[in-house]
Amino acid sequence: MLGDTPSCEASSSRSATADQQQQLQPPPQPTQPSVVPLSRYESQKRRDWNTFGQYLKNQTPPVPLSHCNYNHVLEFLRYLDQFGKTRVHSHGCVFFGQPDPPAPCPCPLKQAWGSLDALIGRLRAAYEESGGSPEVNPFGNGAIRMYLREVKDCQAKARGIPYKKKKKKKRNQIIKGNDNNDTNAALTQMA
Ligand SMILES: [Zn+2]
Repeated sequence: MLGDTPSCEASSSRSATADQQQQLQPPPQPTQPSVVPLSRYESQKRRDWNTFGQYLKNQTPPVPLSHCNYNHVLEFLRYLDQFGKTRVHSHGCVFFGQPDPPAPCPCPLKQAWGSLDALIGRLRAAYEESGGSPEVNPFGNGAIRMYLREVKDCQAKARGIPYKKKKKKKRNQIIKGNDNNDTNAALTQMA
C-alpha cells in the first residue's frame, strides 16, 4: 500500500508563543554612538588626523605623537605637495604671474595654499580633541603660520591670484586716495 505515509503534521504546536519574555536584558551596547552621521568637516578632520598619524608612523624611526613638533608638521606639509594639483609657476616660467596660462608648462604641482591652511586648522583642532595640550599644539606653532604665509605669498605671485581676504568693513581706511594704479601704467601713451 502506498497511502500509509505517517502524517507527521502534528508538530504544529504554535500555541506557545513566548509573548512575555521581557527579562530586562541589557540593551546591546553599541561600540560607538555612530548613529549621528559625521559632518563633512568632522569626517574630513578624522581622515586628516589618521593620515597625519600614519605619516608619523612611517617615519624612520616612527615618531610618537607625544614627540611630534612643528618640524614634523612642516615636513608633513612639504610631503603633501607631491599629491598637489595646483600648478605653481617658477620664476623662470613665462607664465609666472598668469592666473590662466594658455599652454601647459613643466612647473611643479603643489598643494594650494587654501587647502593647507584649512588642513592645518582641522589638524590643530583634532590634536586638542585627542588630548593634546593647546600650549604645545604643534599645528598652532608660529613656524607653521609663517610657512603658510610664505606659501600664500609665493602662490599669489606665481599664479597671479591675490588671496584677498573678504573685505571686512574697516572703519579707518588707511588708503584714502587709491591712486597708485601703476599696474597698467607701463607704456600707455597719455594723449
Ligand atoms: Zn609654469
